[in-house]
Amino acid sequence: MPALQPARGTQDILPEAMRRHRAVIDTARIVAARYGYEEMATPIFEFTEVFARPIGEATDIVAKEMYTFADRGGEEITLRPEYTAGIVRAVISNGLTQNLPIKFFACGPMFRYERPQKGRFRQFHQIDVELIGAGTPEADVEMIALGADTLAELGVLGHCELQLNTLGDADSRQAYRAALVDYFSAHRHGLSEDSLRRLERNPLRILDSKDAGDVAVNAAAPSFDSYLTEAARDFFATVCRGLTALGVTYRLNPRLVRGLDYYCHTAFEFVTEQLGAQGTVLGGGRYDGLMKLMGGPDVPGIGWAAGVERLALLIAAPPVPPRPIAMIALGDAGEGKAMTVAHELRRAGFTVDQAYSGNLSRRMKRANKIAARAAVILGDDELARGSAAVRDLDTGEQIEVPLAQLKDRLAPFR
Ligand code: ATP
Ligand code: MG
Repeated sequence: MPALQPARGTQDILPEAMRRHRAVIDTARIVAARYGYEEMATPIFEFTEVFARPIGEATDIVAKEMYTFADRGGEEITLRPEYTAGIVRAVISNGLTQNLPIKFFACGPMFRYERPQKGRFRQFHQIDVELIGAGTPEADVEMIALGADTLAELGVLGHCELQLNTLGDADSRQAYRAALVDYFSAHRHGLSEDSLRRLERNPLRILDSKDAGDVAVNAAAPSFDSYLTEAARDFFATVCRGLTALGVTYRLNPRLVRGLDYYCHTAFEFVTEQLGAQGTVLGGGRYDGLMKLMGGPDVPGIGWAAGVERLALLIAAPPVPPRPIAMIALGDAGEGKAMTVAHELRRAGFTVDQAYSGNLSRRMKRANKIAARAAVILGDDELARGSAAVRDLDTGEQIEVPLAQLKDRLAPFR
């Protein structure tokens, strides 16, 4: 029978990678807690409407990325492609809008039907923070500072550049949108097929395209700056001043947009050059219209999400787990005794590995392979004397230890 393969765009997370994922997630959770963000989680699947309604008009392209299916009961279900919509839905469903602002940290797998490539998968993982019910620019500053602090704590901030833009308020956006549609319509011959499809519905998203033709057209596109209302300009100026006051450095990038209509004001990304084409490690923005769009009260929000796989590649190798004690049984009596001795040692807090088969030399090889600190050898002769041989695998030194003293004598190898 042919061997079974993982589904396209998915990957197994083996222990070395898993340690990196853990380090990213655990560090992010700790930093978020310092800012008052508590961990929560939403379901991995939701009614398709939860994710489809917010993308509304832009449905064409973003919806293509959604893992959507009818379940056995005929419900339209989608695997979550991002956290924000689910969290906003949860805040409404649980009636949490009485106590604002709310600050949440979340992490977990996301699913997008994308073309797999380096740094881009169909199942990937995100850490995510959301601040709901704070509409002032100070909240944007906190959100971005939290992103910078998280990256700093992970030791990767130095490799990342913070790019910053404003998408203005609704009036600014309407005016800018119209200007973009005019401009792109006049240059439609240079645009990619995806961008042509976006032209009427979501022209801002064209600015974000990586297609070479689009990039060329974008170079001379009108910039948002001249379409910002006074209020939107003030809001953004306050955000920039706040960041400067905190020593968070940034570069203004007028091409930085978020695809969806409910995004407004501050948009930001931390980008690295160390990961090739997929260099955005963390992205976020303000989404003041979303809660209302989802059927809740008109409450502002801002958040960001970061890709765990990408961050896991950037961080230094996290500490490896403690070196185990190898339990090496020889003969039938030894095998039985090894079970109980290993059990007692584990209950006393030791890390103990058992191999279950092979002669002495095979088991010693395995002990070396797993970097065991010491071996406890239970042979017939030792057992007859009520003891075990303990070998220091770094020095090769071996001593005989009465079983009753094993825990104490192994303490230095913990
Ligand atoms: P892109 O423009 O690269 O498609 P995006 O706007 O779709 O990014 P977000 O929705 O903002 O990305 O997701 C936040 C972060 O999640 C990204 O910055 C990235 O680090 C990570 N990410 C997004 N999609 C994928 C994916 N398919 N595989 C791995 N990581 C991803
Ligand atoms: Mg994407």
